[in-house]
Amino acid sequence: MSTEGVFVIVGGGLAGAKAAETLREEGFDGQVVLLAAEDLPPYERPPLSKGYLLGADEREKAFVHPLEWYSGHDIDLRLGVRVTALHPGDHQVEVAGGERIGYEKLLLATGSEPRRLDVPGAELDAVYYLRELPHADHLLDVLEPGHRVAVIGGGWIGLEVAAAARTHGAEVTLIEVADLPLQGVMGAKVGRVFADLHREHGVSLRLGSEVREVIGDNGRVVAVVTADGDEIMADTVVVGIGVRPVIDLAVAAGLDIDDGVAVDAALRTSDPDVYAAGDIASMDHPVLPGRVRVEHWSNALDGGPAAARSMLGQDVSYDRLPYFFTDQYDLGMEYIGHAPPGGYDDVVLRGDVEGRVFQAFWLDGGRVVAGMHVNMWDDGIAPIEALVRSGQTVEPERLSDPETALDQA
Ligand code: NAP
Repeated sequence: MSTEGVFVIVGGGLAGAKAAETLREEGFDGQVVLLAAEDLPPYERPPLSKGYLLGADEREKAFVHPLEWYSGHDIDLRLGVRVTALHPGDHQVEVAGGERIGYEKLLLATGSEPRRLDVPGAELDAVYYLRELPHADHLLDVLEPGHRVAVIGGGWIGLEVAAAARTHGAEVTLIEVADLPLQGVMGAKVGRVFADLHREHGVSLRLGSEVREVIGDNGRVVAVVTADGDEIMADTVVVGIGVRPVIDLAVAAGLDIDDGVAVDAALRTSDPDVYAAGDIASMDHPVLPGRVRVEHWSNALDGGPAAARSMLGQDVSYDRLPYFFTDQYDLGMEYIGHAPPGGYDDVVLRGDVEGRVFQAFWLDGGRVVAGMHVNMWDDGIAPIEALVRSGQTVEPERLSDPETALDQA
């Protein structure tokens, strides 16, 4: 059977759905097959730890499109279908049960899966990872005054869940292996701001601490036990200890791998008819040095469409800078740039840090490689993006002085 005009997308998350949408927007009139392992139509994940979990937004708002949108746009969305192998030589993907689907072009957008907590009791029902919408449904059901939540991991999931749980009046203990939350990704200066924020809102922080066991009783969670033997009583455990990109199919198919699936600036893999977008794509970035792999929402939102245009033969250079935001209690922030652990040598703060209206900049060799603002919505992220893109060297002292214009720092 001819595979001409058949574009297959593996992965029913935001990147996959946005790619399918873009193919149609760009006038592609071939067949679009969107294979989704979950039973739900594609949804965005930020609501799982933000608006939906807070009870502020309707569940429906999380979905990229209503289910009928896909048939209305002649997109063959197949739910609950797991791809088990890629056969790039034959231009086919294989799904569970053995069926093979031919393609002319293939997009891999398989996303990430949570790192699992590897201790006794971690398999209990009330241990959640919050990667999938049903987990957020359940949490939203149980979060209420008096409910005790143990959050394991002080990264983005952990902190956003802690904030949502406190907003519902639940009791929260957060256990983080490092000395401060977000220490790995943001450094100590900013980590301290988030630690103070959560303490002020009544979260009990157990820093420099690890979980040894989750104690259960008849399938229910009773407590978590830390490495130093403390028992923390809990009804629900939420684990946010990082994710790993789902690249097994690409590895088995022999595609080039470099942290994730190696792609060029047009999101093409080492196979000319296979593309990758979202969390798994390790991109030769046109602006940033070296390869960049980004696990944030915005990279799925923008990367899926960029890959779709590239599949259509358009000249694509995906040069977006990594961007993300968080909202916790009354702290809202936006971040842009790329400063992975070990990728910066200085952090400069500017503004009212105690009052939580400030900017932060990550420097490497005197250049700003990333920056964020906290509650500075009038200025927003644009001047920070300009500074990162400029590549100019800065004087840390001038940068920290709010009287000095950013582009004069
Ligand atoms: P994350 O942001 O990488 O944070 C994981 C945290 O857990 C790190 O602080 C890590 O410490 C800590 N940790 C690791 N093992 C631990 C253990 N055994 N016990 C206690 N703490 C442990 O990952 P995440 O919070 O799970 O989020 C998953 C992904 O979704 C990430 O890519 C994240 O960026 C993304 N996300 C983004 C947002 C947003 O942009 N607002 C919101 C939610 C999720 P070390 O660093 O010291 O290992």
